Amino acid sequence: MTFENLGLSADLLATVAREGYTEPTPVQSAAIPLIIAGRDVLAAAQTGTGKTAAFVLPILENLRHTANEGFSPARHPVRVLILTPTRELAVQVSEAVKTYGRGVPLRSSVVYGGTRIEPEIKKLWNGVEILVATPGRLLDHVGQRTVNLSQVEILVLDEGDRMLDMGFIPEIRKIVGHIPAKRQTLLFSATFSTEIRKLAGEFLTNPEIVEVAPRNSVADNLTQVLYPVDQERKADLLIHLIQRDNMEQVLVFTRSKLGASRLASYLDRRGVSCSAIHGDRSQAERTRALEAFRGKWVKVLVATDVASRGLDIEDLPYVVNYELPFEAQDYIHRIGRTGRAGASGTAISLVSPDEVNELRAVQRLLKKAIPCAIVEDFLPDPDREPAPERRFGSGSRGHDGGSRSREGWRPAAAMR
Ligand code: AMP
Repeated sequence: MTFENLGLSADLLATVAREGYTEPTPVQSAAIPLIIAGRDVLAAAQTGTGKTAAFVLPILENLRHTANEGFSPARHPVRVLILTPTRELAVQVSEAVKTYGRGVPLRSSVVYGGTRIEPEIKKLWNGVEILVATPGRLLDHVGQRTVNLSQVEILVLDEGDRMLDMGFIPEIRKIVGHIPAKRQTLLFSATFSTEIRKLAGEFLTNPEIVEVAPRNSVADNLTQVLYPVDQERKADLLIHLIQRDNMEQVLVFTRSKLGASRLASYLDRRGVSCSAIHGDRSQAERTRALEAFRGKWVKVLVATDVASRGLDIEDLPYVVNYELPFEAQDYIHRIGRTGRAGASGTAISLVSPDEVNELRAVQRLLKKAIPCAIVEDFLPDPDREPAPERRFGSGSRGHDGGSRSREGWRPAAAMR
């Protein structure tokens, strides 16, 4: 399959080529022709599958034919509304719209909470055809009548599963109440749960279903590995691995905001450059942290699950689960930040003996054991309760270096 077969016009094909995309990803091959044909689409695609381009490119294709080059704001009503669960994702999608839409005379903008509303209002007044928004802030604009949604032709709900998790559905219902019933609606979600299908039934009309990655699958080019270690030694093991493997860009997940800031300051004190991104930080701080990480000014970005949602950092080589997530599904989301769009990546989990239940849940979801690697000096202390031998199974211990990965060293037992 090539981009030429998908129905995109020459200038969008040129954009795609300029981005260095040689062939469409599976979700793009499936979704782009359907969206160009005006169909409602329910697509299962995780972040990292090229899903943003899968809806942005055909939307640009459809709108460009009727783009108005007039100056007056009245000639630039909101025609496309893209809703995202988090501000980071909103910013990212809006950047994608700008990148892919460079040659198309359409105005785009983004609105999200946690920042001043006045600059957003100014932009909206100038006229915006493609608006990316988080639900709460958009409703603020609707309430203040600083945005008019009565001419929306296409509605996109991005990361629908996360919208559900974060309790945004009542807000989305309100927003949809301001949009014409006759519209094209696209719903993207990492997974197809019963709730997502219900949501599709509520907002979509006779949708085409696109399901490219099997449920709960992980990209093939992703190496997963776990290191057993006591909780209080994880930070030192992390530093050891960063140094040993010369890691240059590592996204590290912690369970809590407090854990994220504590780890970040510990790494900092130990001379590992890093920044943190979590819900307690202001939008400006989060943006700065992300920029520093993207620009490789810092090696490590420590993040919580919610804050990291939708982060798109090109060619991210390493993701580390400093702690396994409480929700196994979040493991898939986390490691989806690496090994994207064909690049290779490594997902490392630092697992302490008391995380055996979380490990079991993750491995059940993956339907396989995560290969285990050992750094001798950091093995959990067997005198501690619970004993790691019992928890993780027993086996001869290897050395740090060479082939460290041993499926046989049985955290696999945790699957049962
Ligand atoms: P997304 O799933 O939308 O978050 O996209 C993940 C990454 O894949 C982004 O960095 C895109 O720039 C990149 N990407 C999107 N489509 C393609 C493609 N056809 N070939 C290579 N990379 C792509």
